[in-house]
Amino acid sequence: MAEQQYNFFESVTKSFDKAARFTKWESGVLDQIKACNAVYRMRFPIRRDDGTIEVIEAYRAQHSHHKTPCKGGIRFSDEVNQDEVMALAALMTFKCAIVNVPFGGAKGGIKVNPHDYSVFELQKITRRYTSELVRKNFIGPGTDVPAPDYGTGEREMAWILDTYMTMHPGEVDAMGCVTGKPVTQGGVRGRKEATGLGVFYGVREVCNTADVMQKIGLPKGVEGKRVIIQGLGNVGYHTAKFFREHGAKVIAIAEFEGAIFNENGLNEDEVFQHRKTNKSILDFPGAKNINNSADALELECDILIPAALENVINASNADRVKAKIIGEAANGPLSPEADEVFIKKGILVIPDMYLNAGGVTVSYFEWLKNLSHVRYGRMEKRFTENLNKHILGQMEELTGKHVNSAEKILIEHGPDEVDLVYSGLEQTMIEATREIMSCWKANDKIRDMRTAAYVVAIDKVGTSYAELGIFP
Ligand code: NAD
Repeated sequence: MAEQQYNFFESVTKSFDKAARFTKWESGVLDQIKACNAVYRMRFPIRRDDGTIEVIEAYRAQHSHHKTPCKGGIRFSDEVNQDEVMALAALMTFKCAIVNVPFGGAKGGIKVNPHDYSVFELQKITRRYTSELVRKNFIGPGTDVPAPDYGTGEREMAWILDTYMTMHPGEVDAMGCVTGKPVTQGGVRGRKEATGLGVFYGVREVCNTADVMQKIGLPKGVEGKRVIIQGLGNVGYHTAKFFREHGAKVIAIAEFEGAIFNENGLNEDEVFQHRKTNKSILDFPGAKNINNSADALELECDILIPAALENVINASNADRVKAKIIGEAANGPLSPEADEVFIKKGILVIPDMYLNAGGVTVSYFEWLKNLSHVRYGRMEKRFTENLNKHILGQMEELTGKHVNSAEKILIEHGPDEVDLVYSGLEQTMIEATREIMSCWKANDKIRDMRTAAYVVAIDKVGTSYAELGIFP
């Protein structure tokens, strides 16, 4: 787990500096791209269920305003600190640039372990935090738009929305003040699974790139690949689900209390239900227990997916990792020292600020939906179906042949919201992979995919600064 003195922002800066020398930007511009523009550190009291008063520590960092609004999740964890939110906000800036989402990076954190509070207390904390953000103009559809992250989900986003709307009566675009909301409260279908689905699309695209796979000595494609997942939360669960559904084998899953292993593959939902009932992932039927959870990271596998917290693979354990590919679903799971070990060992690291960008990509779709006030597919679904039916009918008439009914359903189908969201996300991840890969290939001095991804991101943010100029 995270070492005490680990400096996450410094670690992001190190990766940035490594990449910056492959770009054309002068040092002043690079300094501005790197700097975290604004941090709001707050303390506020809440009254607990037992009547006592507790002071809560919380943050919102806005790393960059080269595009607005700023965008980034809100984390509930007792490890939250200023350094962490600044680092996560910086990653958001680069992430948005890589997937062409027109936002600056931000991140919020509340230093609480949600398991230590009742639902009522969590609601009070979330609402008070939101009201503090409103007071300082750190939230709003045009200024800064939070989303779920570690320890938060749809429930908290709905509380944020309600608090914001209460404080901004009549604001027509208020729904766009937060994303990751329940679908019934202006959320978009596909957001909940978006990060995991994006991780899958990203890894699949890399696995379909023949020369990359040849270099690491693996056959093309994800089918049959042995996958290990750390963290069975929102991101880990959905990543496991999409890998399993596409023919990969999730051979181990690690959680706080330990890990389980089954070489024939695990079903993430059965494991999730088992953990819910037994309050532990251990003793899952047919699987072997691994009592020290971190040992699971060192098992033989093709693809290792850390989907929990930062700095879980560092100088102390990187040497023992045996995976061929590491897909960073979490933010910052590898330290810069671990990166160096993997470059030397020829292990391919697919970097966080590209690979877990599915969440912010679909959040962007949700924000656009909120501003347009109409569900995706609502206007064109029936029109598309009628058009497809007509074209198919014409083809059948002209050829004298008939399409079978299963095919007919597929061809005539007009898009639902979830179809459009999935296809928008798939296209985004594929385009981003290709852009990073072509940057990597264009410069033989770049040794890893993370550096190539940073180069792509720095160039886009740098272009913004160059074109917008400096105020005043
Ligand atoms: P989550 O709270 O839903 O799940 C995290 C899971 O990891 C929990 O089940 C927790 O018990 C487990 N965990 C924590 N420490 C662990 C450890 N040392 N070993 C094993 N398991 C451990 O959080 P999430 O939303 O899935 O986020 C996970 C990571 O993905 C974070 O780094 C987050 O910043 C990143 N991320 C999340 C999103 C999103 O849309 N939720 C988007 C981009 C990136």
